[in-house]
Amino acid sequence: AGKPRIVVLGAGYAGILTTRRLQNLLSSDEAEIVLVNKHNYHYLTTWLHEVAAGTGDDDRITIQIKDVIDTDRVHLIKDTVLEVQKEEHRVILSHGEALIYDYLVVALGFEPATFGIPGIMKHALTIRSMNSARKIRHKIEALFADFADSNDEQEKLTFIVGGAGFTGIEFAAELAERIPVLCEQYAVDPRRVQVLNVEAAPGILAGFDPDLADYSKQSLERLGVEFRLSTRIKSVDPQGVTLLTEAGEERIESATVIWTGGVQGNSVVCGSAFEAQRGRIPAGEDLRIPGYDNVFVLGDCSAFLDKGTGRPYPPTAQLAILQSDVCAQNIVTLLRGGQELKTFVPFMKGAVASLGAHDAVGKVFGIKVRGTMAMIMKAIIDIRYMLMLGSPKLIFGKGKLSTYVMP
Ligand code: FAD
Ligand code: NAD
Repeated sequence: AGKPRIVVLGAGYAGILTTRRLQNLLSSDEAEIVLVNKHNYHYLTTWLHEVAAGTGDDDRITIQIKDVIDTDRVHLIKDTVLEVQKEEHRVILSHGEALIYDYLVVALGFEPATFGIPGIMKHALTIRSMNSARKIRHKIEALFADFADSNDEQEKLTFIVGGAGFTGIEFAAELAERIPVLCEQYAVDPRRVQVLNVEAAPGILAGFDPDLADYSKQSLERLGVEFRLSTRIKSVDPQGVTLLTEAGEERIESATVIWTGGVQGNSVVCGSAFEAQRGRIPAGEDLRIPGYDNVFVLGDCSAFLDKGTGRPYPPTAQLAILQSDVCAQNIVTLLRGGQELKTFVPFMKGAVASLGAHDAVGKVFGIKVRGTMAMIMKAIIDIRYMLMLGSPKLIFGKGKLSTYVMP
């Protein structure tokens, strides 16, 4: 028999770091490593809101996989995973031949959760990948171009951001900052453009420190975002959106909805190949899928239980990054015949969110940060990640810092 084959599905935070760590830990005699990803680039999902609003540059958040992975050591397959056939230990790809694995790492990330709300997938836009973010940017520009031709003075250009979690807040801030620029470019009266953030809960950023949520709300209001709290998106259709408020239903015609109402695991593997709970595959303490000794699941398509709260950890890049380390070590242990796998014990550092180009907010190691301090923290988070990807060169070319040093 040949060398054992490790197949990693997805080159997001979880997949690319697991691959890098395996590449460094294993000699080429020990195993063949295969990385499958839809594109030949890795993107920084944590900055997609800027691409979507058109305030950030695509190039600053994409990294060619070959620049951070040794493609002589790792076999990179640019293809789309269609199915995992777990009993046969193989992966079905869109173009290539079926891929047999000895060890599998499932790291295919997230997709929007729609909670069955009619019309979301068809008529709303979602931030889920580089291409979906670009699509939002193009749509916004096209809407401005059309609106500039409209002669109806009563008509408004309305953007509805559906959901005030971190994604909705970060995106709404960027959009609000882009609007004056677009109004200037397309000669549109700014008073005729509105950004509404619609949130089902009574407050924004549920679960985040209330002081910091208030700070974020005020920061966005200064940028011109209007909040509609305790208001739920009921349905989206080609003519507009129906909201459900405490007073009853409300209709907003010709509004464009950008849905940021939540995420779930990639449906390629969740539910079809492996048993999912609320759209995610439960991961065991060693990050394997219980019942499948050679299959690991990481990042946004997994659910890892927080024993403190009794609920899974929220899906974050931070968690995906931490998991990649333990996953790689556990695969090495299994390959070398060991039995004692490491238990994943996450040490979460906090969260930092951008509020447009000039403000940010966060809580790091229990300390609240706002404004410049929070912006610095966000740049440091990027720098640490670039270093993990093993390329100090990237620091000035990619991520947030690059926008400060190379405007
Ligand atoms: P992903 O990053 O989603 O990567 C999945 C990879 O799989 C992608 O490369 C994709 O192309 C590939 N793929 C998908 N389907 C297929 C297929 N069928 N075949 C082949 N390849 C496929 N978290 C934080 O910790 N901090 C933040 O500041 C933060 N900011 C965020 C901002 C935004 C706008 C968003 C949307 C999310 C943010 N998050 C943040 C959450 C974070 O981005 C995710 O938790 C993280 O991306 C999960 O990493 P992952 O590796 O599991 O998946
Ligand atoms: P989320 O689940 O955190 O927030 C979704 C929001 O949409 C909730 O507030 C929910 O009440 C609201 N909502 C749901 N249905 C609705 C409806 N019908 N009408 C109106 N509002 C509705 O989702 P997210 O913001 O996409 O975040 C996903 C994950 O990514 C989270 O774990 C988050 O922490 C992480 N993330 C982190 C950062 C950061 O740290 N800077 C940024 C973005 C995302």
